[in-house]
Amino acid sequence: MQSSKLTESLTILNGVGPALAGKLQKLGLFRVDDLLFLLPLRYEDRTQLVRLGALRPGMRAMVSGEVLLAETVFRGRRVLLVRISDGSGQITLRFFYFSRQQQAQLRAGVNVSCYGEVRPGPLGLEMVHPEYRLLRPGQAPVSSDSLTPVYSITEGVQQGRLRNLVSQALALMKASPPAELLPRELLQKQGMPSLEEALLYLHRPPPDADLESMASGRHPCQQRLAFEELLAHYISLRDLRLMARREPAPALGDRDKLVERFLGSLPFRLTNAQKRVAKEISGDLSVPHPMMRLVQGDVGSGKTVVAAIACLYAISSGVQAAIMAPTELLAEQHWQNFNGWFARLGIRLAWLSGSQKRSERKMSLAAIADGSAQLIVGTHALFQEGVEFSNLALVVIDEQHRFGVHQRLALRNKGVSGQSQPHQLVMTATPIPRTLAMAAYADLDTSVIDELPPGRQAVQTIALPDVRRGEVVARVQRACEDGLQAYWVCPLIEESELLDYQAAEASYEMLKEALPSLAIGLIHGRMKAGAKDKVMRAFKNGEIQLLVATTVIEVGVDVPNAGLMIIENAERMGLSQLHQLRGRVGRGAAQSHCVLLYRQPLGQIAKSRLAVLRDTNDGFVVAQRDLELRGPGELLGTRQTGLPQYRVADLIRDAQLMPLVQQAAETITRSSPQQAEAIVRRWTGDAGRFGKV
Ligand code: ADP
Ligand code: MG
Repeated sequence: MQSSKLTESLTILNGVGPALAGKLQKLGLFRVDDLLFLLPLRYEDRTQLVRLGALRPGMRAMVSGEVLLAETVFRGRRVLLVRISDGSGQITLRFFYFSRQQQAQLRAGVNVSCYGEVRPGPLGLEMVHPEYRLLRPGQAPVSSDSLTPVYSITEGVQQGRLRNLVSQALALMKASPPAELLPRELLQKQGMPSLEEALLYLHRPPPDADLESMASGRHPCQQRLAFEELLAHYISLRDLRLMARREPAPALGDRDKLVERFLGSLPFRLTNAQKRVAKEISGDLSVPHPMMRLVQGDVGSGKTVVAAIACLYAISSGVQAAIMAPTELLAEQHWQNFNGWFARLGIRLAWLSGSQKRSERKMSLAAIADGSAQLIVGTHALFQEGVEFSNLALVVIDEQHRFGVHQRLALRNKGVSGQSQPHQLVMTATPIPRTLAMAAYADLDTSVIDELPPGRQAVQTIALPDVRRGEVVARVQRACEDGLQAYWVCPLIEESELLDYQAAEASYEMLKEALPSLAIGLIHGRMKAGAKDKVMRAFKNGEIQLLVATTVIEVGVDVPNAGLMIIENAERMGLSQLHQLRGRVGRGAAQSHCVLLYRQPLGQIAKSRLAVLRDTNDGFVVAQRDLELRGPGELLGTRQTGLPQYRVADLIRDAQLMPLVQQAAETITRSSPQQAEAIVRRWTGDAGRFGKV
């Protein structure tokens, strides 16, 4: 907020000294307006007094009465019990911690008001550690005319203190209201309140506020703030993209008819979806500005061939292309594929990885630098210091869903050669619903490969309680004896009593004992990259029949002979993650199976989740259901999607706002660029003040 006091440091508020300011900073609160954007987690109704006779277990209520009896009893420890009555009924206040002063205050005949949760107790209804106040004779018990906000993050700062600070911030806001940055027509049309109204309402709701809609985050005041926040992030991502669009890049075309020859050499025809996406890519590449395109395609939809086509446009135009994978193993897989496809077209390839021998690396570096290498395949090592490309024009990043906007930018910058920017193609197998993609990838154009190559057999999925593990083990034995390979996936690496996960190591020992005739391997996240790759390679070569793994195998590994996957504690994993895991099987000719083992009892949501996987193999359907099944507040991990951290918005809950956000962004950036800039500044702040974009 640009207006006056609201952008100043919190130390201008009464009672905020350096010590408290330090604590507030740890909570992400620096300026006065940060307090305003810290929305309450819930509200307490202290505006009305509930008669003691009307109390029911589970209610949170404001009550008052006269102390009938106060006594300290010993129940393993000292407990203070205070019985109060208001004529309509009685309740016991129970304190486990109390000072001598409290004990002296709460004596018979005194009037108190208190707020707390009502529970059944041995002496009838009680409140454990209620907030209470002593009342002077004749003093009215209720002091609040709005609902009382409860804030979620208060580590080291008491609720009362925080409420007081917010009150001061609200007073400053009323004195000089923040600029309204959303167009009036939009607010009117959507029935949205102004920023000031929304903030005031959310911090000080009237007694008749719709608490249910506020608890779910769908109240118009919350939605109005979420909308502006999503808009801010969207505009800032679009700006990045527009800026990049203005940079120069080499225009690429298929001058040597390499693409044609490549397609003719494949043992299959492209699917229609592959053709369409390839066309979108060639369109981007043909203009002298950098492509920034994301290709989403379900596991096995054939993204690699599409990437190869993009690379051929570069090579055919006499410039270099590079493809980068997140792990050595995946990079090696690409190396084999691309070698097989490109060598016969007379294309020269180079390999670059962290674990490479020095002499080999030297040769690769030389070929990359003098331009004799036309396609370079590797890991992150591609963009480390000392790697100089002769004329890099296209960067393909595979399975990129774990990276955020930051990494995307960093990679793009590293790929810069001379004046011009390389084109960028990003591929991910994590399908996310369209509205979510709009928020997460607003800096990219997106293409979707929404069709699998013909003849694929859907993986058959069943869910079983883990008490039937014995049968499943026998089934693994039979499958492996029939020449298939299998995965056994466990969620965590060490036994954690708290969560009761089945540990991979424990499962590994159990399976070795139960299946002595099988070659069994173990792979988990704590292993060094080299060791991991060694195990994966042995599995790929068939030396390992059963691979016990944590979720490290989630990403793109292609072992067509693996036809069976067991997933333990499936009830604890997200739908999209389960779908990714399952995508490791079903890559060969044989019918594949996936067994989801779960621990009983199964909650309602977990049950529906497993049912979704049983019923569909379509990643987009899975993603949509995933979105619907998650309760509000349970955020899609930012690690998984590269989404920014929001203060008010919740993408799961608010994804439906995105089409409107997109429209508004276009209108505002066109009609009033300064306004757009102010919106971005208000919400994404100066770099570093909040989690960056
Ligand atoms: P992903 O999209 O998961 O990266 P891949 O590119 O690894 O999928 O492709 C999976 C498999 O499908 C590969 O063996 C690939 O050769 C094959 N494939 C790709 N496109 C087609 C197609 N149009 N017809 C038949 N098989 C295809
Ligand atoms: Mg792939």
